[in-house]
Amino acid sequence: MIRLTRRANLKLEQSKQTLTESYQESLEKQKRGEIKKASRVWDKPYIKGPLFEMSHRKCAYCESKEGRLEVEHFLCRSKHPELVAEWANLLPACHKCNAIKGETDCCKQPMVDPSRTGMDPKDYLIYRNTLFYKRSIDDEVAENTRKLLMKRCTDELSGVFTDMRSRIDDAIDGICDKTKSIADDDDLSKNSLAGIVIELFRLAQREHAYSAVYASMILGHPSYSQLKQRLIDKGVWNGATMDPMENDAKAIALL
Ligand SMILES: [Zn+2]
Repeated sequence: MIRLTRRANLKLEQSKQTLTESYQESLEKQKRGEIKKASRVWDKPYIKGPLFEMSHRKCAYCESKEGRLEVEHFLCRSKHPELVAEWANLLPACHKCNAIKGETDCCKQPMVDPSRTGMDPKDYLIYRNTLFYKRSIDDEVAENTRKLLMKRCTDELSGVFTDMRSRIDDAIDGICDKTKSIADDDDLSKNSLAGIVIELFRLAQREHAYSAVYASMILGHPSYSQLKQRLIDKGVWNGATMDPMENDAKAIALL
């Protein structure tokens, strides 16, 4: 999970009242048995487009890019129908996170809203060895968020994260090996190795799937600090490109 920046949605602001009334009317019809399901008023390109762009088309909770993204109501619509078209209440979510969260009332069971100003997931969560932990033991917000992510780990993501870990271990081992034999005047090999390091950092940029987990795996790797120093000593570390990528990874890593 990473912090998301929400931009204004003026078109939704203008139509919010109409959509909310339309939803509440359809709820009444549903209660009277005239229709089976209430109207999905949020199912609009001008809502889904900017919402999904906000998260780089990833689930706001687990950061998966698999499957179809859905519009999730942070405060669920069954208990807060008045917020059904409230822009700040909408998040992009994968079907699995949406289903796990279900009708959880975030007023009673508060969770991290990664789009809320001042609420950064890394202040609440730590990732280590395919598990999420809460940063502070008494933090109810962190605990409820951790529970959702751990259910995702149980149902699917543990295997995904284990494969990612192997990929990172192999990549870091490979880079370590290559730095040992590189000659001071071998610019071709240095450039080639720099390209491999940049590809590694790309996994930990916020537009990539599971970027917070990748960033935690790379920066938290036991060899990372020594490897970086060796890349600097060998003249492979390209600060102009790599420093900003490393800083972006640090900003989202759950360490
Ligand atoms: Zn998800």
